[in-house]
Amino acid sequence: MESVPENNFPSLLAKIRGFLREEVFPLEREFLSRPFRELLPALSEKRERVKALKLWTPQLPKEYGGLGLKLTEFARVSEELGSTPLGHYLFNCQAPDAGNLEVLIEHATPEQKELYLLPLVRGEVRSCFSMTEPEHPGSNPTWMSTTAVRDGEDYVINGHKWFTSSADGAAFAIVMAVTNPDEPKPHKKASQIIVPTDTKGFRIVRNISVMGDEGSDYASHAEVVYEDCRVPQRNLLGREGEGFLIAQERLGPGRIRHCMRWVGICERAFDMMCEHAAHRELSPGVPLGSRQTVQAWIA
Ligand SMILES: Cc1cc2nc3c(=O)[nH]c(=O)nc-3n(C[C@H](O)[C@H](O)[C@H](O)COP(=O)(O)OP(=O)(O)OC[C@H]3O[C@@H](n4cnc5c(N)ncnc54)[C@H](O)[C@@H]3O)c2cc1C
Repeated sequence: MESVPENNFPSLLAKIRGFLREEVFPLEREFLSRPFRELLPALSEKRERVKALKLWTPQLPKEYGGLGLKLTEFARVSEELGSTPLGHYLFNCQAPDAGNLEVLIEHATPEQKELYLLPLVRGEVRSCFSMTEPEHPGSNPTWMSTTAVRDGEDYVINGHKWFTSSADGAAFAIVMAVTNPDEPKPHKKASQIIVPTDTKGFRIVRNISVMGDEGSDYASHAEVVYEDCRVPQRNLLGREGEGFLIAQERLGPGRIRHCMRWVGICERAFDMMCEHAAHRELSPGVPLGSRQTVQAWIA
């Protein structure tokens, strides 16, 4: 994979940082006080700005319009983008779409790429990943009840999922379902199948409240049921029984990105704490930061 020349990388980070500070930080009050869905027109404008700045989908190879960054380089970008809760979304490298983009690049057929990958690359649609189930521990993705049974040309999917992030408003889900129940190896029982969300039998029950907020649109985590949900067998991603393997492929780089995003969040929170300590005056000319306990927190 081609990479940004070493000497350009710091200027790339500086460009991203400048854009976030000048054009994205000012949107945060709205983000915190209004439903995400109401911000979509403003966010859509910013996404166009990111495209114009040639910073769109930085994590993707150049042939898909990305910057062709190595994982370690994108980790640094992810840290910068983590400085605001809107960063990854505006650059089209937000979970769960980022993981879906990767597995579609690796495993989709030419037809699936045309129908699902390319609209996602262009930011015309969003997607979700539907693996975790309420009835089973999400930490053990070899154990699930959702099934996909072959019937004629189709799969018929039945199951119950939750924490399907960003399902609200998504165009399609990539669903983990058991296709090979008799397979003795537990990690070869399930497959990943693409399900357009307008398919009959795909139903969002609710957006689950997370930290007291059920959210909306991209900023949400849904409970979903699949009731005799019928999709063509050509919607299978990769081969039957490869669901676990493909899930591991997405989760590996995902861990690095999520952690670096959190480093970015922590750095921003720390900067805000220092700024507040320096400027909040307890009495004229005596800032909060003059107090030893506050200094100890910062140190
Ligand atoms: C905000 C959010 C977004 C999410 N988005 C998605 C999504 O888009 N798609 C999706 O499919 N899922 C998603 N998930 C689900 C996530 O993958 C699961 O929550 C996760 O896998 C853990 O599963 P669980 O919640 O069922 O906890 P469990 O697996 O039931 O674990 C419960 C507790 O046991 C601990 N534990 C588990 N196994 C062990 C062990 N072997 N030894 C010691 N301790 C153990 C865990 O650390 C945890 O504290 C999301 C979750 C959250 C919170």
